[in-house]
Amino acid sequence: MKILVINAGSSSLKYQLLDSETHDLLAKGLCERIGIGGHIKHTPTGREAYSADINMPTHAEAIQTVLDLLVHPEHGVLNNVSEIDAVGHRVVHGGEEFANSVLIDDDVMKAMERCIPLAPLHNPANITGINACAAVMPGVPNVAVFDTAFHQTLPPKAFIFALPYEYYEKYKVRRYGFHGTSHRYVAERAAALMGRPLEELRLVTCHLGNGSSVCAIKNGKSIETSMGFTPLDGLPMGTRSGAVDSGILEFIMNREHLNISEMLTILNKKSGVLGISGVSSDFRDLDEAAAQGNERAKLAIDVFTYKVTKRIGSAAAAMGGLDGVIFTAGVGENSAELRAQIVDGLEFIGLKLDPEKNKTRGKEAIISTDDSPNKILVIPTNEELVIAMDTAEIVSKLKK
Ligand code: ADP
Repeated sequence: MKILVINAGSSSLKYQLLDSETHDLLAKGLCERIGIGGHIKHTPTGREAYSADINMPTHAEAIQTVLDLLVHPEHGVLNNVSEIDAVGHRVVHGGEEFANSVLIDDDVMKAMERCIPLAPLHNPANITGINACAAVMPGVPNVAVFDTAFHQTLPPKAFIFALPYEYYEKYKVRRYGFHGTSHRYVAERAAALMGRPLEELRLVTCHLGNGSSVCAIKNGKSIETSMGFTPLDGLPMGTRSGAVDSGILEFIMNREHLNISEMLTILNKKSGVLGISGVSSDFRDLDEAAAQGNERAKLAIDVFTYKVTKRIGSAAAAMGGLDGVIFTAGVGENSAELRAQIVDGLEFIGLKLDPEKNKTRGKEAIISTDDSPNKILVIPTNEELVIAMDTAEIVSKLKK
């Protein structure tokens, strides 16, 4: 099946066209400046990218532009738009409503709207993308794949915050976790590489990119994860603080004369490794600065890797043991130095890194020594492929 995968933001729309049987990427691209002009960059696989300013007052024009390019005589990869069997949408928040990917109908749309207060910046854009596809591609099924769904298996002891219980009852304030599609994909691939059934394994998946989270996956199910009610919790990230003592907020707000929304902007946009280093949110810049002797860049890297190390330990404790640790996303897939720093000292839980094997970048590999009791792996994530596969599976059942 040919599946169009859509990741709609408020003024942008990322897309990929994938073949669910061969897993081939046929084309990908990005629409930007929707509503304030419009620009598209479209790349058919193996051919030159095409960029153009095209007016896109709404997401519907953006989708139409994507479809026009997919069948374009020069830049296209399809003869006819009708070759697209279904559309898979990335949706950030499924709340407690969705533990799996679903075919979108009126009831699903209503449930997604109920989740808007949980992700006010993201879910409305995702819903706009779905409405645009329904308008421009009538009759083509749409499937929603949620970032939170994989973590719906967390037990109450892992998802309840130690706040008055009524906040959970009244407002659904709890740990949801994010990056679920990525954690699920790399765990499945790791089991395949280890040659063991996922249902028997205790895995810690480390998604380390601009946003970062660690997940404990026991017998194929997420039982603990570091992101919480929002993606601000857990590890320090590029610009996000991760978990901090909430008592600090009032202390700083009083002294710096900040209101709560200004404080949250600082926690989301000016903290993390950017905040500590004062250099950059990008780990490549930090590596460079640290190599030139910048102490705060080095400190930012040390704080980050130390917290990841501790999270691996606590995830192993949550599962009562460990079989493998997986690194993925920009930092996890590419940085041998950070991986080495993170697992340094974790031999006591059976993790022995092979420095030669660790030199790998951006491809699937086992990087622990042959005699390491537990495995360390690098698995490049592929969230779009998961969205395409879930969509194909749901749509193929429809046709039966
Ligand atoms: P996002 O969370 O936005 O999807 P990515 O998964 O693409 O982000 O990760 C981006 C991060 O990965 C950036 O901080 C970037 O510096 C980092 N990164 C990419 N390549 C390397 C590398 N070779 N060494 C260290 N960090 C890297």
